[in-house]
Amino acid sequence: MTLPPSAPASLPALGPLPLSHGSVDRGCERRTDPEWLPGLMADPATRVLALAAGKAPVAGGSLVLHSPAGLPEPRTVVYLGASEGQEFVAAGWDEVPDVLAGTGDWLGLREVAAGLPVRDASLFVEALAILNWHATHGHCPRCGAPTEPVQSGWVRTCTADGTLHFPRTDPAIIVAVTDGADRLLLGANAQWGGKHYSTLAGFVEPGESLEAAVAREVAEESGIAVTGAQYAGSQPWPFPCSLMLGFTARASGTDAVPDGEEIVDLRWFTRAELAAEVEEGRLSVPVGLSIASALIEQWYGGPLPAPRGLGN
Ligand SMILES: [Zn+2]
Repeated sequence: MTLPPSAPASLPALGPLPLSHGSVDRGCERRTDPEWLPGLMADPATRVLALAAGKAPVAGGSLVLHSPAGLPEPRTVVYLGASEGQEFVAAGWDEVPDVLAGTGDWLGLREVAAGLPVRDASLFVEALAILNWHATHGHCPRCGAPTEPVQSGWVRTCTADGTLHFPRTDPAIIVAVTDGADRLLLGANAQWGGKHYSTLAGFVEPGESLEAAVAREVAEESGIAVTGAQYAGSQPWPFPCSLMLGFTARASGTDAVPDGEEIVDLRWFTRAELAAEVEEGRLSVPVGLSIASALIEQWYGGPLPAPRGLGN
């Protein structure tokens, strides 16, 4: 096991995150035209990303995109945007249509995003997020009447009172808390069985700033007061509709007390301690797509060692 050199006193913001590329031009000025989306669906050159129950067809490490010609009627259609001269549309079904069943392996975003080309990862995260919203907003929150999509799928309007309803994203903060010795605070969540440790996180509440949410969530889950919250980067997390906002913050003390409900254990780790325990398989930490993984690796100074028996 080799340890990286100690991290600089002031950490840089998180680098590119796997779901944050945003490489597609969403064409906000085009999609308000009511003829725009029907026109694309009548054009065989349009590329359609099919989604069923959150999964999309993948073959050879890329999304399988279809022409709209011959597709069965989708439950929802949304304009995704343009990239390199091509126009992209998402089409959602409750189940994989028979005619598309053999067009690739139907996989979820978390399974494939890290291996997809940047454009495909951008299309998949956008499509999943907006289709998740459509799937749960079929009725007007004011009067209960059905709503229907307008503006190429980026707004829903009430069929009774005409009110407009915009896509919802739930902001959540996630924070790497360090102490005066630059140890990292990680918590074991009750849902994860007690051996999986991650950074503290929680939803931003109405009427609350991001900085206040960082302070409140850390205090609620650990009893620790933090200062100097610094924004580090963000990543959409459409499971179903979160936006994760990453922060670093400094603890004013080290007496961490788990709340006993959400968090069952809290520990301060040196880099050597965390690497050794992960390598020996005594605990696990997030790996892969999540911003928690990026925050932990940023503090550590690079990827953590793999557990023994998993390739080393
Ligand atoms: Zn209404």
